[in-house]
Amino acid sequence: MRLSRYFLPVMKETPADAQIVSHKLMLRAGLIRQTAAGIYAWLPLGLRVLKKIERIVREEQDRAGAVELLMPTVQSADLWRQSGRFDAYGPEMLRFPDRHGREMLYGPTNEEMITTIFLEAVRSYRDLPRTLYHIQWKFRDEVRPRFGVMRGREFLMKDAYSFDLDDEGMRASYEAMFVAYLRTFARMGLQAVPVRAPTGPIGGDLSHEFHILADTGESALFYDAAIEEVSRDELLSADTSTIARLTGLYAMEEEEHAKVSDCPVPPERLRSRRGIEVGHIFAFGSKYSKSMGLSVQNAEGAQVHPQMGSYGVGVSRLMGAIIEASHDEAGIVWPDSVAPFRVGLINMRADDGNCASAADELYGRLRDAGIDTLYDDRDERGGAKFATMDLIGLPLQLVIGPKGVEKGIVELKRRATGEREELSLESAMARLSE
Ligand code: ATP
Ligand code: MG
Repeated sequence: MRLSRYFLPVMKETPADAQIVSHKLMLRAGLIRQTAAGIYAWLPLGLRVLKKIERIVREEQDRAGAVELLMPTVQSADLWRQSGRFDAYGPEMLRFPDRHGREMLYGPTNEEMITTIFLEAVRSYRDLPRTLYHIQWKFRDEVRPRFGVMRGREFLMKDAYSFDLDDEGMRASYEAMFVAYLRTFARMGLQAVPVRAPTGPIGGDLSHEFHILADTGESALFYDAAIEEVSRDELLSADTSTIARLTGLYAMEEEEHAKVSDCPVPPERLRSRRGIEVGHIFAFGSKYSKSMGLSVQNAEGAQVHPQMGSYGVGVSRLMGAIIEASHDEAGIVWPDSVAPFRVGLINMRADDGNCASAADELYGRLRDAGIDTLYDDRDERGGAKFATMDLIGLPLQLVIGPKGVEKGIVELKRRATGEREELSLESAMARLSE
């Protein structure tokens, strides 16, 4: 992509209304624009990252055996009256009538809808277990939308729902999602702490939240330092023993920790840090299958209510969390897996014919090799181009200047380490094609 034809409205000044670094950087790097309180437009660069995050989430859901569908954003109030949640949900739910005066709402979550879809199709234990998911926009009229996409009113969520015949099956589905979450966050370069969550009004007895450690997180956590010692490789190859190990280690939200009279963690290993909740998994049994009238015939011919779970990931919130975890004074440092482009190509001297044709040629070769490149071909000072590239945080920068062109040399800079090397065009191409 040529920057001269792209849409990248970067900002020099730090926006006054943004309090935390990820929000500031998302605005400055031209990833998002606020269009109303807690509602954002995704600009081209931000949309690329969102799609990459979404893709990792999707791949790990598929790998765990979950099946993707897509449910609508707008739902009928009747569906929610059946479970009793239309009144229970409160002012976070955005409600509105259609032209016939029927009450509608913008979905904050989908337990009722998925259960209804499932019950119309499934009669027998042979159709179980199943886990279905979608990645869809949600609306919650948060009392205090803030921190940009971290706590928005409109936000993108992956929500999965499992249906099992019995408690044992439900636990297996829960564990499969637990593994998917560990892998999902590890692939994004994040260290996620699974915290045993109180199950609250949704009921049931099994629930974990996944938190990314960051000073700007909204939750206060207490946990065993050993959690931080679990390596990325271990998380990527996670199985039930990894879950047993992680859940065996102490990790609690402040309110829960305060209730514990005898903390099992020795003081030198007890850490207290803030966390951003990026995922939440629940196993709640037959709560919705009962209220929505879902039952299936078991192998003995009796009607039973399937045991269910629901599993959320804050897809748009993750972008903020990744930036909180990976940035420096100059801007964002994207992990390779979610970077909007892999390479930023900088022509230092747009006014120099030799430089421009060398840069054009290299850009053509990168494109032919299928290497995602953002090419800064604008008529701007070199310094401004460097600042923009650092701000938007692409993993690799290729710099072409007049001296190098004479010698057939380009400079390759790694954004994360600042490490630079001079390479011939050929070896640069070879390096990037690795
Ligand atoms: P929170 O305690 O942060 O309000 P929640 O318990 O209401 O979260 P869930 O209903 O479990 O969240 O939703 C699943 C995931 O969706 C959360 O783990 C979070 O990552 C994300 N999420 C929830 N609310 C928002 C929001 N207002 N803006 C962005 N992401 C959100
Ligand atoms: Mg909430």
